[in-house]
This record gives sequence, structure tokens and C-alpha cells, in this order.
Amino acid sequence: MDEKAKVAKKTVQDIEVEGKVVFVRVDFNVPLDMRTGAITDDSRIRAALPTIRYLVDHRAKVILCSHLGRPDGKVVEELRMGPVAQRLSQLTDLPVSIVSDSIGNQVQEAADDLKNGRILFLENIRFHAEEEANDPSFAQALAKLADIYVDDAFGTTHRAHASTVGVAQYLPAVAGLLMEKELTSLTGILTNPEHPFGALLGGAKVSDKISLIHSISDKIDVLLIGGGMAATFLKAQGYEVGFSLIEADKEDLAHQLLEVAGHNGASLLLPVDVVVSDSISEQAAGEVVQITGIPPNKYIADIGPQTVELFSQEIKKCRTIFWNGPMGVYEIPPFTRGTRALVELLANVKATTVVGGGSTAEIVEEMNLTHKMTHVSTGGAASLKFLEGQTLPGVAALLDR
Ligand code: ADP
Ligand code: MG
Repeated sequence: MDEKAKVAKKTVQDIEVEGKVVFVRVDFNVPLDMRTGAITDDSRIRAALPTIRYLVDHRAKVILCSHLGRPDGKVVEELRMGPVAQRLSQLTDLPVSIVSDSIGNQVQEAADDLKNGRILFLENIRFHAEEEANDPSFAQALAKLADIYVDDAFGTTHRAHASTVGVAQYLPAVAGLLMEKELTSLTGILTNPEHPFGALLGGAKVSDKISLIHSISDKIDVLLIGGGMAATFLKAQGYEVGFSLIEADKEDLAHQLLEVAGHNGASLLLPVDVVVSDSISEQAAGEVVQITGIPPNKYIADIGPQTVELFSQEIKKCRTIFWNGPMGVYEIPPFTRGTRALVELLANVKATTVVGGGSTAEIVEEMNLTHKMTHVSTGGAASLKFLEGQTLPGVAALLDR
């Protein structure tokens, strides 16, 4: 990544941490098996390891804080942080102590007793309703535990909560290394992408992605559109799209975007063939048709093989590619093919590849190809808001470099 794209926020490497109590907000909101309570995917924990290792190696006293699930301001036994702390301990091979609350005397004592290079894990922060309410006295109580605030939870930066924004008002606040990587990668493609720069967009609805398309349309050279949202664009161009969801009020916008793309010299490519089906269900069978022959009583459920080929040719010409949104209803086996083919391709091109969005990151992770991409954002919704140019309160709260 270019130096110019370097993040404008101070990071944990810009301050002295030795002997300091450092309050680190992480996003360890990991998926749990509802039946056994076991952690089914620990990639969010792994993603924050560089920051934790850095702090431990530099002899800081580390307090970790995260939310888990949606306890809605009360204690929910199934959502205690114990198993997460235990997994962290296994992954780092370090002892991790836990406390049964996130503020109060017991917590303060544990924080005061922390030795350099040791880790203390607070209880699920959302057991307190004051967290999501960004209650100032709660934020102050959190701040009292520590000397420095580090935010490594990019996925919660679009929410102004006590542990993501409130606490930053009372302590020097800097980015963790994962946060830095998120900001550097996402800022990099916005400010300094190597051209040709292509965006591959999919997902269910155009309305979810309109602002994103607007904000990147003057930066990209080619826009490839698949997924459910392609139907609105195809319809705007006069094609029959059957039962596919059309956002009638967005049809006009789709028209405008087709023009905007044209004005900016970016080419916009839509599917040339699609997989259609009578229904979107496990039992459904897919059938490949050209876009000129979409039956009026079927749904578009995936892009077709010719489209995969067409998009692949374009992607191979690019030096930077941003991808958000599956190409089809990837959750259902007959309709995963288009998405999977393009994930495989992105994993194997030499270009800078940046992936954003919750479902999109999940697919790459499921296919075990995260390490083959330049950056897969852990940010979900936050990554898209960032690329739309929105100010994320959790990022704004950090000190400028
Ligand atoms: P992300 O979370 O990565 O931003 P989205 O939420 O925009 O992605 O899109 C994910 C959803 O889009 C998936 O649930 C997928 O089933 C749906 N989707 C993709 N293609 C289609 C389609 N042709 N018809 C209906 N839904 C689709
Ligand atoms: Mg989504």
C-alpha cells in the first residue's frame, strides 16, 4: 500500500504503552452454536491478535472489552465472555484473567493489580444498558480503569456507544493495528487506487448500495453488477426480469447511474446470462438463460457462466478490485456457483483485492480464502459506510496523527 494512504489517526505504535493500563475495545462478537455455546468461528479473535501481541510484547497492562450477541442491557448467562477469553488464551498461549462485570470495585481492583504484559478480560459490555446509550458516567467509569484507550473494533465504529466513543473523550484514544489495517486498506482504494480499478457489486438490493456506487463511481474504471440488484439495472435497460425484485423507484436511479458511469468514462457491465428458477428454495432447480430470454414467471437467482467469464476477463485487467455483495443467492446450493467462481478468481489474481460487507466477508471466510485477498474487512456495515464517505463516530473519536 502506498505511503500516502497511511492512516491519519494515531495508532498504538505512536504512543508509549509500557507500564500503562490500556483499555482495548475489540470486536469479539463471535458466532456461537446455539445448542452447545461453542464458538463456531474465531476469526474475529484472530484478527485482533496483532494488537494484543504488540501490547503484551511492549509490556502494557491490557484490559480487553467486547460485546457478544444482543443481551439488551441485562445479564444473559449464555452470553458471558468466559469461553471467548478462554479461546483467546489458547490462541495466544498467554494467561487471560476474567472478571464478572465491566465496572465497579472488583474490576477496579483487578485492573490495579495487573502486571506488565498481562491481560484482563471484562464481562460482556452490553450487559449494561448504559453501553448502547453511550451514558457519560458509564464511559467515565470505564475510562477510570485505564491510562490509554485503543480501539481495534472497526466493526462497531458506526455506532456511538460508551466503549467505542464515550470512553475516548476521557483518555488518549488511538487505533489498534487491525483498525489501522482497515483504515489504510479502505482509504487506499478511495484515494490512491492503482488503475484500472474495478468494482464488483452484488447483493439483494440496489437501495442498499446506491450511496456506495455514487461515492466510488468517479474513481473506478469498470463497474460489474451481479446479484439481485442486477435485475433493477436490467429492467432499466428494458429487459424482462420475471418475478425478480425490482425497486421501481430505483429504476430511474439505475438509469442515472448507467449515465454517470458513462460520463466518468467508467464502463458498466451487467450480466449477459443468468440462472433463473421457479422459486428460491433448497428444492429449486436452476436453468441458465440469456438476459433476452428471462421467462416472466421466474426469479433471477445467480449470474450465468458467460457472465462469470465476462466478469473474469474484466477483473483480470484490473490492478485494484473492490468486491461487495454476492452474485446470487449463495446460501442455497444451486445458486452459489457464480459467487464462488469469482471468489476463486479474486483469490488468485495479482491485483490489490479488497472485500467489504458482512455476507461477502463470510463467503470468503467459508471458502478459506481470506488470506489470499489483500484485505477482507471485518467491518461489515461499517466498511460500506466508510466507503460511502460517512463519518464513523468510532473513527472520528481517535486522535489525529
Ligand atoms: P453484504 O452483507 O456483503 O453487504 P448484502 O447484504 O448486500 O451483502 O447481500 C447479501 C444477500 O444478497 C444474500 O443474502 C443473498 O442471498 C442476496 N442475493 C444475492 N443475489 C440475489 C438474487 N439474485 N436474488 C435475491 N437475493 C440475492
Ligand atoms: Mg448484508
